[in-house]
Amino acid sequence: MNGNPQIKQCPQCGNMDSVAAGFCSRCGQKYPPYSNTFLPPTPQTTGLPPRFGSPDTIQLPPGAYDPTLAIVLAVIFSGWIGMIINKQQLKGVVVLVAGIFLILATGGLGVFVVYPLSLVDVILIGNRLKRGEPVAQWQWF
Ligand SMILES: [Zn+2]
Repeated sequence: MNGNPQIKQCPQCGNMDSVAAGFCSRCGQKYPPYSNTFLPPTPQTTGLPPRFGSPDTIQLPPGAYDPTLAIVLAVIFSGWIGMIINKQQLKGVVVLVAGIFLILATGGLGVFVVYPLSLVDVILIGNRLKRGEPVAQWQWF
């Protein structure tokens, strides 16, 4: 490369021309459009948007959440409603549907698995939220 920024070399014949020249003065080769501004570097597009905290994680300030209602409703009805109140809405709906299938498939015996497990889950997740701990949308216990 030549050291003079005002001079460019014709790629066809090697003739030196001013950077402002549109064509080679010797062979007539067309030069790329002249620009005296540097092009900005091409942004690195990774395809991923910047992430400031995961949308799949629930986190509240310590003491801002009271899990009592979720626990009471989980005791009266079933754990899925407490999960929804604990802001694990998708998990609550999936547990409701899966629990119904499990209970039906086991002739009702599944309730002795679904009910206590989901109740313990609501109590533990509710208390994590109360303490201000981050809880993943699909986290258990
Ligand atoms: Zn030329």
